Amino acid sequence: MSYELERRVAIDAALMAAKLCERVRKSMPQAIAKNDKSPVTIADYGSQALICRAIAEAFPHDAIIAEEDATTLNDDNHLLAQATDSIRDFIPEATPERVINWIGLGSGVIADRYWTLDPIDGTKGFLRDDQYAVALALVENGQVQLGVLVCPAYPLADGGKGALFTAIRGRGASMTPIGGDMPQGLKVAAGENADHLRFVESVESGHGDQSRQAAIAQAVGITAPSLRMDSQAKYAAVASGEAVLYLRLPSPKTPDYREKIWDHAAGVLVVEEAGGKVTDMFGQPLDFSQGSKLVKNQGTIVSNGIIHQTVIDALAALS
Ligand code: AMP
Ligand code: MG
Repeated sequence: MSYELERRVAIDAALMAAKLCERVRKSMPQAIAKNDKSPVTIADYGSQALICRAIAEAFPHDAIIAEEDATTLNDDNHLLAQATDSIRDFIPEATPERVINWIGLGSGVIADRYWTLDPIDGTKGFLRDDQYAVALALVENGQVQLGVLVCPAYPLADGGKGALFTAIRGRGASMTPIGGDMPQGLKVAAGENADHLRFVESVESGHGDQSRQAAIAQAVGITAPSLRMDSQAKYAAVASGEAVLYLRLPSPKTPDYREKIWDHAAGVLVVEEAGGKVTDMFGQPLDFSQGSKLVKNQGTIVSNGIIHQTVIDALAALS
């Protein structure tokens, strides 16, 4: 299976969605609190509508499991009208009813083959004009086969920003500046030079255990302060060698939290195809076959591969 059509459809849809997000962000969108208190904006809805529509059109038999549902939007005519307007710039035939239907396409259930989507991963970063990602992955028989991350604020070597990260299993990972057409192969950092070793973690302290993460990093010889980034841009940082490690250990405030598949699937493949390794905090592979949550896993360790076992051992020793 070449996944060429899947790759093209996914990239085109995610880039269009990222364009919508950037347009909305410039208009300083209002953030609405969802039931779990996390924020959502019309850009989250717009991005999900565009991508679900594109996937369903190209692959009508595929399940899609996406972060947002249309309930909040359906209850708020003003918000729905704003979301529809933002989508109409890209899909002129968008109507409020169609928008609700497109968003609803993301309420699928796990199947042998499914897509998982975070229309804006890191909504808090998006609202802060910081890192966020449009994250889309195709999973078959529990294995991520295709991963696409669009990170509109990702810093580039030439001082610009905005990058598309893609990976197909067995075919490597690449980075293309948004608007550019020259993909560059991605390779994790070997990390022989201890002075340059860095680790990444969430900006949000409630999404991890920052003191334990700092202790582990130190135990494996990382002395520099962490890079803090929202979203799966952290996976991109490891895949491109900016960091050798991304630690996400359960927050002491939410010890029973289980990670969502859309917060990891695309990033995992990008890192693995760049030569890195991803497991849970006990060294087990992430199991994407269970449902919308990674119920079989706790915490995540994302590394250049070389230091992976050392990190797991340090974690076990410090527990
Ligand atoms: P990040 O930008 O890496 O902090 O991740 C953002 C994601 O964290 C959101 O999409 C949420 O799904 C997820 N999240 C929410 N609460 C928690 C929690 N208590 N622990 C870990 N992740 C969380
Ligand atoms: Mg997310």
